[in-house]
Amino acid sequence: MPKYIFVVGGVMSSVGKGVAAASTAKILQTRGYNVTCIKIDPYINIDAGTMNPIEHGEVFVTEDGDETDQDIGNYERFLNQNIYSINYMTTGRVYLSVIQKERNLEYKGKCVEVVPHIPEEIINRIKNAQIKSNADIVITEIGGTVGEYQNILFLEAARMMKIKNHNDVMFIMVSYMPIPSAVGEMKTKPTQFAVRTLNSSGIQPDMLLCRGSKSLDDPRKEKLGIFCNIAAENIISAPDVESIYDIPVNFEKENYGDKVLKILGLDGYNPSFVGTRHTLPTMANAPTANNQMQEWSDFAEKIKKLKQSVNKTKIGIVGKYFATGDFVLKDSYMSVIEAVKHAAWFNNVDVEIDWINSEEFEYNDAVGAHGCAPDEETMNNNLQKLKQYNGIIVPGGFGSRGVEGKINAIKFIRENNIPFFGLCYGMQLATIEYARNVLGIKDANTEEINPESKNCVIHIMHEQKEKIEKGNFGGTMRLGAYPCLLKEDSISYKSYVGACHGKLSAENNIISERHRHRYEFNNYYREQLEDAGLKVTGTSPDNNLVEIIEIPKNKFFVGVQFHPEFKSRPLNPHPLFVEFIKSGL
Ligand code: GLN
Repeated sequence: MPKYIFVVGGVMSSVGKGVAAASTAKILQTRGYNVTCIKIDPYINIDAGTMNPIEHGEVFVTEDGDETDQDIGNYERFLNQNIYSINYMTTGRVYLSVIQKERNLEYKGKCVEVVPHIPEEIINRIKNAQIKSNADIVITEIGGTVGEYQNILFLEAARMMKIKNHNDVMFIMVSYMPIPSAVGEMKTKPTQFAVRTLNSSGIQPDMLLCRGSKSLDDPRKEKLGIFCNIAAENIISAPDVESIYDIPVNFEKENYGDKVLKILGLDGYNPSFVGTRHTLPTMANAPTANNQMQEWSDFAEKIKKLKQSVNKTKIGIVGKYFATGDFVLKDSYMSVIEAVKHAAWFNNVDVEIDWINSEEFEYNDAVGAHGCAPDEETMNNNLQKLKQYNGIIVPGGFGSRGVEGKINAIKFIRENNIPFFGLCYGMQLATIEYARNVLGIKDANTEEINPESKNCVIHIMHEQKEKIEKGNFGGTMRLGAYPCLLKEDSISYKSYVGACHGKLSAENNIISERHRHRYEFNNYYREQLEDAGLKVTGTSPDNNLVEIIEIPKNKFFVGVQFHPEFKSRPLNPHPLFVEFIKSGL
């Protein structure tokens, strides 16, 4: 009988509910249970793909091509396993399928009502996700905060599951403990109110994870326990930590895993665990449940040590979403940042990441409006500053703002042999740069920005064009995992082969990576570009779509049409990121 854990938020959002859910999953996985995580986003959008990243954070793409919330990325990274579309749900998705079922007469003439039909649909989705992954334990994170109107039907679905299977369902509330500066002590009252609000939905939390800048002390645990009707031992302190990968280790210091398993009526270690089901690919021998946690805490320890060292590698990320400030940005590129960190730590070095606004490298009229770089001299000075980096990434993006600056930066990076890694748009812009400045095709561009250009070296595929003409934008890009055939004599091939100890895949030199884009490398220019030194080293197996470009004579100059960052895992970093970091050390 599978078990279900619901993770809900109290007091306010953005206190790390997703990472808390992912850490819970990790701990239970190390106890030998097959765990999966579901993310519920209460908004109407069908997916995260149509939302502005500044508003929503990163759009995380799954293997099966869903555009989901960044928390799905956290689950994948902590569990070291793929999470599929079926594990992601929004209000829009739930209503759409209920309405479609109604239109298809699947409710057999009944009046279809918000309650119970919406919660029933939610429950079906949760159960289907369990079936698909054959999970022993399903952790469902309900987005938002209790007391919000938006997530009420999701809470109702969870309550209905609890009523039906009392012993198989539990609730964990992740709440926030403020320390008002005028008072200087941690206050528990907001959490008491949050629990009461959850109670009014008919739900009593079994555990509290108390987030705060400091640890929660015992007297406050006692107090919260009494007022919230929870045994003090089930109130866990979750103070801020330097690295999110430390959180499972911290939780375990309070015997968190034992406590969760006890509430669920499960053994501390899964008796049927044979030690192979969750084997991490980087581990030489099949682990026991115990040594999986050991491997994780060794990793967390290694990060702590590296962070203390003054020797850091410096990576610059040149992008456009930077004017809104650091806070938003980190979220917009979460997987890129994590992939860079994983690769640096794998190379035994900590990393400092700088955000560089690409508009600093523009000086023409179009740019004057943003007031970034007033003249050519300033721009050139800004470019010179790029030399301080051990490597520079131009990540994915859309639209025209900041693009000319990115192209200017890529030219400088290429000419100065600074390690360069272009992700998706970054690869497309590197192609444009090469066409303009090496081949001399001055109006080379992407159809996305200038469809009038006679030389669209990046262009739209026919079927994508049709979709746009019909105004069909949501979920219609090239999305999800596609195979890519590597050329043997290339940096990419060496990176991938190195990472898997000399053997790529049964299908010979084929890798698989996730995509999210509408435009493609235009094959009309392929030969000219290759002759001029920009090599195509990865393509779709039919050789039709260009997936990877490289400049062999540079230290590391690689552009990929896909998003390798989505597949980087802390204990299993992505081979291209590993080589990129290594080349700059
Ligand atoms: N805007 C480009 C395209 O749609 C690149 C997308 C991306 O970087 N994810 O093809």
